[in-house]
Amino acid sequence: MQEFQNVQITCVGHSGSSLLNLILGAHSQITSTGELMSLQTVYSYENCACGRRLGSCPFWQEVIHRVTTAVSIPPDRFSEVLPLRDGAYRHRRTAGQRCLELLLLTANRRALPILKSLVAGVRRSLFAASNNYDILAAVAELAGTPVVVDSSKNPVRTRSLFFAHPDNLKVIHLVRDGRAVAHSWVKAYGKFDYAAAARQWLYRDRAIRLAIRDIPKNYRIRVRYEDLCRSPEIVVERVCYFLGLKYEPEMISYLGGDRHDVHINLRPLHQQSEIRLDEGWKEEVTPGQMSQFARIAGRLNRLYGYE
Ligand SMILES: [Zn+2]
Repeated sequence: MQEFQNVQITCVGHSGSSLLNLILGAHSQITSTGELMSLQTVYSYENCACGRRLGSCPFWQEVIHRVTTAVSIPPDRFSEVLPLRDGAYRHRRTAGQRCLELLLLTANRRALPILKSLVAGVRRSLFAASNNYDILAAVAELAGTPVVVDSSKNPVRTRSLFFAHPDNLKVIHLVRDGRAVAHSWVKAYGKFDYAAAARQWLYRDRAIRLAIRDIPKNYRIRVRYEDLCRSPEIVVERVCYFLGLKYEPEMISYLGGDRHDVHINLRPLHQQSEIRLDEGWKEEVTPGQMSQFARIAGRLNRLYGYE
């Protein structure tokens, strides 16, 4: 297996991970995968960033061929035999899956052998993490880049990857003003009112901080989406330094390279727009909603520098 660097972008949804993923993937030494953990569920019907259906994209077909050949199964049994998602990685979770999620987030590496022997869910999650890792390795080998960036975002999965391969994981924790995220959620998903969206932001970001708490400090970095949009060169240079790579100015136009990102918002790629911070939410969030947010999640938001 080729040596490569596994880089996970983790953040709450609607925090700008698609943009960061596209920018990083434009580096000559990085392949971005988009939301890799969705490869399995969207494989048959969704488009790859190259414009083909994922199921007929030669890049992903070859990746799947390699990982299935390694375990001697036919490629069409990939979804069934090599799951990339497990209970704890899903959006809709049962109470049992939530317990498993909490267990994985709060456990430390010393407790892992005993948890693995006692809890089938932990074994399943680690198996899924190991399958994800094999796919990342196959991507690195096929693309010929030493770094692979995956913007699956999910903190439980990030933690499982840390458990499975602790020495090969760098994490980019992307944050965005929680008031903007909550607003974006209300607009995108009718089921949330603003207070519920604020609570979700708080809950999900806490899960991320729990997931990465014991990853050594030089293996994780926090990036604010607003800084990325306002000063892309400075922020991207800092991320490149973190990854041990030299900054390439072409990254900012994020159009370069042979792209095969999975399940991310490709609008920035297709519109070729310049990086711009949309602060329309400031006009649209009502004073009442602002107070609601301050009560629910104001403290964490201030911790990230959002006043
Ligand atoms: Zn493709």
